[in-house]
Amino acid sequence: MAELAQVVVDVPTMQTNQPYTYQVPEALEQKLQVGMRVVVPFGNGHRQVQGFVVGFTDASDYGGKLKPIQAVMDLQPVMDAEMLALSKWLADTTYSFWIACLYTMLPNLLKGKTHRVVRVVDELPEQDYFDLFAGRDTRDYADFADDPTAVSRLLKLKRAGKIRIDYQVENRARAKTVMGITPLLSFEELEEARTSLHPNAHAQNRLLSYLQSIGGQTVVQKKAERVAQLSAATFNQGAKKGWLKKVPVEVYRRPQSQAALPDDHHLQPALKLNHDQQVAVDQINAAVKDQQAATFLLQGVTGSGKTEVYLQSIAQALAQGRTALMLVPEISLTPQIVNRVRRRFGSQVAVLHSGLSNGEQFDEWRRIERGAAKVVVGARSAVFAPLKNLGLIILDEEHESSYKQDEAPRYHAREVAKWRGRYHQAPVVLGSATPSLESRARALKGVYRFLGLPHRVNKQPLPPIQVVDMRPEIKQRGESNFSRPLLQAVSDRITRGEQSILMLNRRGFSSFMMCRDCGTVLKCPNCDISLTLHMDTRTMKCHYCGHEEPIPQVCPNCHSRRIRYYGTGTEKVEQELRQLMPQARIIRMDVDTTRRKGMHEKLLKQFGDHQADILLGTQMIAKGLDFPNVTLVGVLNADTGLGLPDFRASERTFDLLSQVSGRAGRADKQGQVIIQTFNPDHYAIRDAQANDYDRFFFQEMNLRHQASYPPYYYTVRLMASHPEEAVAARAMAHIKEKLHQRLAPQTIILGPTPRAIARMKRRYYYQIVIKYKRDPALHATLEEILQETQSKGFKDVQVSIDPDPQYFM
Ligand code: ADP
Ligand code: ZN
Ligand code: ZN
Repeated sequence: MAELAQVVVDVPTMQTNQPYTYQVPEALEQKLQVGMRVVVPFGNGHRQVQGFVVGFTDASDYGGKLKPIQAVMDLQPVMDAEMLALSKWLADTTYSFWIACLYTMLPNLLKGKTHRVVRVVDELPEQDYFDLFAGRDTRDYADFADDPTAVSRLLKLKRAGKIRIDYQVENRARAKTVMGITPLLSFEELEEARTSLHPNAHAQNRLLSYLQSIGGQTVVQKKAERVAQLSAATFNQGAKKGWLKKVPVEVYRRPQSQAALPDDHHLQPALKLNHDQQVAVDQINAAVKDQQAATFLLQGVTGSGKTEVYLQSIAQALAQGRTALMLVPEISLTPQIVNRVRRRFGSQVAVLHSGLSNGEQFDEWRRIERGAAKVVVGARSAVFAPLKNLGLIILDEEHESSYKQDEAPRYHAREVAKWRGRYHQAPVVLGSATPSLESRARALKGVYRFLGLPHRVNKQPLPPIQVVDMRPEIKQRGESNFSRPLLQAVSDRITRGEQSILMLNRRGFSSFMMCRDCGTVLKCPNCDISLTLHMDTRTMKCHYCGHEEPIPQVCPNCHSRRIRYYGTGTEKVEQELRQLMPQARIIRMDVDTTRRKGMHEKLLKQFGDHQADILLGTQMIAKGLDFPNVTLVGVLNADTGLGLPDFRASERTFDLLSQVSGRAGRADKQGQVIIQTFNPDHYAIRDAQANDYDRFFFQEMNLRHQASYPPYYYTVRLMASHPEEAVAARAMAHIKEKLHQRLAPQTIILGPTPRAIARMKRRYYYQIVIKYKRDPALHATLEEILQETQSKGFKDVQVSIDPDPQYFM
C-alpha cells in the first residue's frame, strides 16, 4: 500500500484547515518528511501550489483518484514537531487558517511565490512563435501582462489549444555563496609540485606554502588572497595546474548593524547585582534548572536594572546548555539594546526584526535553526525563532500593544511565549515598569510569580513632573500648542546648550469633541467610552453599542461654546514652534519624516550629535532613547489618548507618560518633565505625575470591574467589511443571530455597529464585540463562523475574528 501524505495547501480563495491527501511518488518515498514544503497540483487546471507536509496516512476517505506530489522544495524539514504543533494551536486559538500560521512563523523567503508561465504545447504560427516567444518554449506570463495586444494573441492561442498557462511555485530560499578554494593535493604532493617550479615563480611558491598550511580545508578565496598576500590570478594559475579547486561556499548575510561585532574574547563581564536583582535572578535561575514552566512578572521602574536581570538569567540558561529568547517591542529594538546583548554574548546572538532584508532574515533564521545562534533578540515575530532546547523566554515591556499582531493570524507574542514555555518546560519572564492590567492582576492572584525592582540602580530620583493646565492658558493666549511654562523651559535649555524632546501624543485617526473650558469629553451614556465624531453623518457615535447623538454646540457640563473637535498634526505644531522660536533648531520625527529606510536612525543620530535643540515627534520617540544631554521632556497634549473610544485609553496614557518621563535626566544633569493637559485632575495623569503605578492600577481595575472589561471579562471582536455598506451590515446581522442562539445568556454581545473608522480603503466595516467570562459554546461557534465565511454566501465579504483585541478603532 502506497504511502499518502497530508498536505496543508496555499490556496487563498478556498481556505480550510483540513489538509489534503496526496500520493507520494515512489522516488520520494523514504525521503519525504513531515515539515517539508512540497509543490502539489490543485484543482482541475494546471495550477501548482505550495504546501506543507503535516502527516502521513495509509488511507484516504476521498473517493476519487489522488494526485501525486510534484516536487519537494526542501532537503530537510523547515518545521520541526514543536513548530507544527504550535502552528496548529495558533490556527485554533486565533481563528485563522493553518497555512497563514505556517507562513507567519517562517522567514519571508520560505513563502513560495507563485507565478504564471506560458508554455507552448503545439506548433505555433511562425509569426507568433517569434513575436511572442522569441523562439523559446516557455515564457513568464508577467512579460506580457502589460501588453493588451500580446495578451489577446495569447488568449487566441490558448483557445486553439496551442499554449497552456501553468502556475509554477518558485522556491526563493537560496543561500548566498561566495567563491572558495580547496587544495586538491596532499602536503607531500604539494611539496613535490614545488620542485618543478621555476626559481623565479615566487608567487606560486607562496601559494603552495599557503595550500599546505590550510591542510585540506575550504577557505573563502577573498580571505585566502588577503592572508597569503596573493592575487586572484595566482589562484587561477593554481587551479589550472590542478593544485586547488574552486568551490562555492555558503555564507550568512549578516545585518549591517552587526558588522562591528565585538569578538568573542572581549565580551563584557556581568555586573555585580544588587540585592533585589539577585533575588530575581536566583528565582528565575531556579525555574530554569528545575524545568518549571512558570511565568514571572518582573516589575521595575526605568533604570532599575531589569535588562541586567535578563542578561544574567540568559547567561545562566546558557550555562545549563539551554538556549534563550528575548523579545522587545519593535520600537525599542534600538542598536542600544541589541549591542548590550551582543557585547555580553558575542557571536552566538541572532537578531530578528522587520528592518532586515529577506536574505538577512533567512540567514539569521538558518543560524538559529542549525544551533549556531543560541540567544535570539527580536521583535514580535521572533517568538517563532526555531531555537531548540529553549531554557528561558523574556518579554521586555510586556504591556506594549505591538506584541499583538493586528492582521491574521492575530496572535499575542505573550501567549505564544507561554505556549513555548510549556512545551520546553521553561520559564517566561514578563518585564515592565508599567505592566498591563491583565498581567499585574494575574500576579496578584498568584498565577504569575511577582518579582519587584522598586529602586533605580543609581538611586537617583525620577525627574520631577510638572502638569500644566491648558485651560487658563488657552483663555488668556488663544489657540496654541505651547504653554508659557513649556516655552520658557525650552528656551532655558537652548540658552544652556541642553536639549529638549517634545512629544505630540497621536493615536489613530479618531477624532472626538472636548470642551476647552472644562476639559469634558463627550461620552456614551451606555458604555463609558468617548463618542467619535462622524463628519459624514454629522453625529457623535459610540462604536461599541451604536448610540448616536447630534454634535453638541455647547458643553453639556459647563455650557461653554468653546467645545471643539480635537486632533493636531506634528507638521502644524512644528510650524507654530518655528514661529514662536525662530532661533531653535528642530528635528521632526513622525511617520512622514521616517518613511524612508534608515531615516529613523539618521535623525536620531543628528539629534545625538547635537545638530538640533529640539526633537519633536510622535510617541515613536518615547521609548528606549538615551541621550545624556536631554534635560527636558515635554508632552504637548496628554489628553489625546484619553479621548479615544477604547477602554484601554487611560492605561495607555498612563504608560506613555510614565515611559516618556524616564527619558529626561538619564545622566548626571537633573531632568524635568512638563505635561500639558486639559484634564489635570484625571487619575491617569495625576498618578503618572506621582509615579504611582499601584494607585493607578486599583482605580483602573475598579472601573474595568464596573464596566465588565478585561481583566474581569474576555473580549472578542468580529468585523465584516464590504464595498457596499448594506452587505457588510447584513453579514454582521447574520453572525449576530448565530451568536445569539448559541452563546451563554451571561455573555454580552455588543453591536453590530459601524466601527470608528467606518470606511477604509473603499470598504465599509461593521463590528461586534463579545464580552464573556466563561462560555463553553464560544470556541465552536466562532470556528463555525470562520468556516462559513469561506462559503458562497459570504462572497466578497471579509470577516475577521480577533480574540483579545488591543484596539477598538
Ligand atoms: P532597566 O532595564 O530597568 O531600565 P538597566 O538594566 O538598563 O535598567 O539598568 C540601568 C543602568 O544601570 C544601566 O546603565 C546599567 O548598566 C546599570 N546597572 C544595572 N544593574 C547594575 C548593577 N547591578 N550595578 C551597576 N550598574 C548597574
Ligand atoms: Zn465644558
Ligand atoms: Zn455605547
